[in-house]
Amino acid sequence: ETADPVGEGGQIVAGTAPGFPPFEMEEGGDLVGFDVDLLEAVVGETDYELSGWETFEFGSLISALTNGRIDVIAAAMTINEEREEVIAFTDAYFEANQSILVASGSDFQPEELSDLGGHPIGAQKGTTGEGIIQSELIDAGDLEESNYNAYDNYVLAVTDLENGNIDAIVVDVPVAETFQQERDVEVAFEYETGEAYGFGVRQNDDQLREALNEGLAAVEENGTYEDISAEWFNT
Ligand code: GLN
Repeated sequence: ETADPVGEGGQIVAGTAPGFPPFEMEEGGDLVGFDVDLLEAVVGETDYELSGWETFEFGSLISALTNGRIDVIAAAMTINEEREEVIAFTDAYFEANQSILVASGSDFQPEELSDLGGHPIGAQKGTTGEGIIQSELIDAGDLEESNYNAYDNYVLAVTDLENGNIDAIVVDVPVAETFQQERDVEVAFEYETGEAYGFGVRQNDDQLREALNEGLAAVEENGTYEDISAEWFNT
């Protein structure tokens, strides 16, 4: 059952999954990051009003959207067909590939996905990184299901990687690079997926989706997108 659409120009609640730096993090009790600043700027260009943010595990965001707990997802969520069967996306606002992270100075230095075969590895539940592990490794017969560790969030996965409980993590490139700067982990190699992130809305919320697309175009045109990027990425 999908919740009703938001009325034109109504109040909207945004949902995200912190622990995915620099897109969304909790710092001193505040929710911050690229997605937070970008969505706020985008909504500011529309006649909708952002009344607040709710946080979830990444794997719960889509149901939170369809059941009406939130009205928009801003969580570095990749636009893909599987998700488009359930929700709709705005135009793309960011492009990314996947990275394979290992512990800093690790003896294990994989160079391609098949090198991960036989090793305990991890990803965050419900992500495209998890999807790659499933389709490219488990389904391909290179990895035992029991060697895959699904985490509620990537921060827990990074901690397990530092502690040697797992040997590698599959995660979006910009986030891998941030963890590499902040934690005892390093990028072993990148795996090209050509993903694009969009904001998620309910399938019956065409007006909201179109307003957000116009807002996105406006912030890309007026320099705000670039300012927000410069703040969160070393560009
Ligand atoms: N971009 C990836 C996905 O959509 C990861 C997103 C995330 O973990 N926040 O699955």
